[in-house]
Order: sequence, then structure tokens, then C-alpha cells
Amino acid sequence: MKEGHKLWFIVGSQHLYGEETLKQVAEHSRKIVESLNSSGKVGWEIVPKPVLTTSDQIYRTIIEAVSTEECIGLIAWMHTFSPAKMWIKGLKSLNKPLLHLHTQFNKEIPWNEIDMDFMNLNQSAHGGREFGYINTRMGIPRTVITGFWQDEDVQNQIGRWAAVAKAVVESRNMKIARFGDNMRDVAVTEGNKVSAQIDFGYEVHGYGIGDLVSCIEEVGNGEVQARADEYTTKYKTSESLKTGGASRSSLTEALKIEFGIEKFLQTGGFKAFTTTFENLYGMKQLPGIAVQNLMAKGYGFGAEGDWKTAALLRTMKVMGSAAEGGTSFMEDYTYHFDGEDSLVLGAHMLEVCPSIAGGEISMEVHQLGIGGKADPVRLVFNVPAGQALNATMIDLGKRFRLVVNELEVVAPPAGFPKLPVARALWRPMPNLEVGANAWIYAGGAHHSVFSQVVTTEQLRIFADLLGMEIVVIDSATNLVDFRNELRWNETYYSL
Ligand code: MN
Repeated sequence: MKEGHKLWFIVGSQHLYGEETLKQVAEHSRKIVESLNSSGKVGWEIVPKPVLTTSDQIYRTIIEAVSTEECIGLIAWMHTFSPAKMWIKGLKSLNKPLLHLHTQFNKEIPWNEIDMDFMNLNQSAHGGREFGYINTRMGIPRTVITGFWQDEDVQNQIGRWAAVAKAVVESRNMKIARFGDNMRDVAVTEGNKVSAQIDFGYEVHGYGIGDLVSCIEEVGNGEVQARADEYTTKYKTSESLKTGGASRSSLTEALKIEFGIEKFLQTGGFKAFTTTFENLYGMKQLPGIAVQNLMAKGYGFGAEGDWKTAALLRTMKVMGSAAEGGTSFMEDYTYHFDGEDSLVLGAHMLEVCPSIAGGEISMEVHQLGIGGKADPVRLVFNVPAGQALNATMIDLGKRFRLVVNELEVVAPPAGFPKLPVARALWRPMPNLEVGANAWIYAGGAHHSVFSQVVTTEQLRIFADLLGMEIVVIDSATNLVDFRNELRWNETYYSL
């Protein structure tokens, strides 16, 4: 389990049942927590809290959860009936992610033995509904998971929710470094940074490129050489980049940039960053491999000043820690039209994260027409077939919208002998025509976060918890209904 953060497990009941029953409630809660902690499915430790039976006790527990930094969220279970007026005062103070685990201690009904004592001890079925009512009535954002607590599927759902809770806490404390401004004239990468900080906590800090250049110039030769040797062993390396090769200095320069950015981010406590090729004064190369390796270490990144995608990438890297698979900055680059088998080739000039790679990764240096700088070093690879999704966050002026498209990644039918960048090939759901139409009607950007591990369900939870609009394009998407959803959402968010 990951260090540093915990989830609190709170159990609702009431005094009516007497001491003996409440002791059993506490014991049941302890057993559920133990089982979840030992399941290996939830990335953060769950801590059982005393059974809550009064309004004051609930209030004090929630206030404590809110003010305790290590607590990233609350899992609430109504073991018995906990009259929900008792929860009002506490819930009014809640500002951390809430999971309502609608489960019951006993899995099955003991048909021959069941009596009223059993019924009274296993009444989550209606206790959970009383709790649900007050949450709905008060408009409390929360996630409901129904099922038996030992079921693997339930435990996995809790694990994915926990990673979203962690991502919410990270978002609220996220600092993004923006080197240079926006690519001139580009619209979608802009946005209201004050609104983003109020809504999600994203703090965007702007820096002149000179601030970064001076950090790069301080990087020592020793550490650069050591890392160059490390990468030459780790990746399939072009001859010219090896020791004594004609372009070896391109690699050492690229790694100076990598160290420089990393030190800048570490010193300032930044979890994400942006660059723009229109603002590189004093830099010898556009950062390529530097950005790729920093993404692989968990940093968020957006090209051309795209701070929203940088922040979303970091957020989704955290969500993705619930399972195996990679998450990267991505751009829809070019199409392959072939009816129902039409495909998108996704890539960027350089900056695709090797966490999504399948097969060999090669380290190469090539000329880059854009940016007017020396030839940048980059990692080149393919992405394996499988399920994935693209997500993008756009600013609609009065609100942000998250657009998600589920994808089926396909293996390239042929090599790309002349393509010097990492790339992914996918079929958008339900097909290219509907997928691209829906994305464009929704205003989705050309930049996105591509993930093999984050699920649509997690993004829905994230959007719910932060009050953000989300629209999903999947295998069931019908364009007429989707466009109606966009129209209805306009009304909903204008109320
Ligand atoms: Mn771009």
C-alpha cells in the first residue's frame, strides 16, 4: 500500500439497538476494513473509525477528517438504520470525496435460521437508503457502490474510487509550471486559470524561458554523462548517439534539459508543466526525450502552453495508479479512412510518454522543422493493441467540460520506417465517423490525455466530485442523442 495517505471508514448506526448490537456493528466494521486492506485491491490504507450514533459524534468525525491532511476520503457504510437528520450537520462540513459503500455484513439469507435478531443486525438495505436520501437532498457529491464487500469486483471498484479520491486531493494542491505562454493564436489551449483554481485547485505559475535556461545551465556534466550511459543501455540506441557518435552531444544536451526541468519542478513543488516551441530562446533543442521521461516519472505535460491538458494528465496519472497501464499526452494526428475500419494515428511532434509503449523503445535523433532549433532526441515506439480512452478538458467560458472517447487501440498493420515519433493507432468508439463528429460537436481539443488504465467510470466519479460537466463517447453513442445531451447540458449548467 502507498504511504502517506489514508481512507477513513465510518459506520452509521443509532443507540436504539443497545450496547450489545453496537459492539457487533463495530466488530463487523473492523472485519470489513481488515478484508479490504488485505485484499491488495485498494492502494491506500483504510482506517476504521468508531461507530457513529449521534449528530455531534458524526459532526466531530467529519470535521476531523476534513482537517486531517492524511485523510483523502471517507467510506461510509450504514450497518443498521442511522436516522439521517443526525448526518446533516456533519455532511454540511464535508469537502472530501465520499464513497457510500452499500453492503451488508452477511452475504446470504440463512433461510432456515433467519429471525428478527438477524433482520435487525443486517438492515443496510434500508439503512443505506436513508443515508442516500439525505445526501441527495443536500446535493452532496458522492459515489455509491453496491455489492458484497468480499466480492473482487466490489473491491476493485473501491480501489479505482480510492485512486480518484487521491487525484481529487492532488488536484486541489497541484502546481503547474508554464514555461513561456500559449502557442500564438491557438484557442483551445487557453482558458480561465482563476476559474480552474477555484473549481479544481489547479495553480498555474508562469515563467519566462530564461528562468528554465538558467536552471539547465547549472546542470553538471557528470550526472548528464551517467544518465546518457544509462539510457544507451536501457533503449535501443542509434549509432550516432552512442559514445563517440556524431550526435552524442545532442543526447547530452537533451539530458541537460531533462535534469534542468526536473530540478526546476522539484524545487518549486510542481507536478505538471508546459512548453511551447514559440518560446525557446536560449535553449538548444525543443525538449523531446526530456518531456517523455518526465511524463514516465508521473509529471503532467501539455505542449504549446496547454496547462489544462498538463494538469489533467497528472490527475489521470494518479487515477491510473489503481492498475497496470500507461497514460500519456496525445494528439489526434492523421486519419486512415476505410469505412467501419477507419483509424486515427495519434502522436505529437516528440512528446509521447513511454509508459504506453509496447515492444522496443528506440532512442533516436532527427531533424525537426518546427521551432528552428537543433535536432532533438526522442524515444520512438508503438503502442500495443487493447482498450484505451482519450480525455480532454475544455473551457466553455462559463464552465469546463470533460470530453471522453473510448478507443480500441489496434496493432499497426505495417511498420513506420520513416516516422520518427512514437505513435498509437486506434479506432474511436463507436467508429471514426460518429466518434470524431461527437468529439467535434462537444468542442473537444486536438490535445488529449490517452490512457490504457484510467476508466470512464473513474472520470465520471472525478467529474461528479468536482462538479464538472462530462460527456462520454462510447460504443453506445448515437449522434442524435449525444447532440441532445449537449443541448440539455447547456440548460442544466445555465440554471
Ligand atoms: Mn500539439
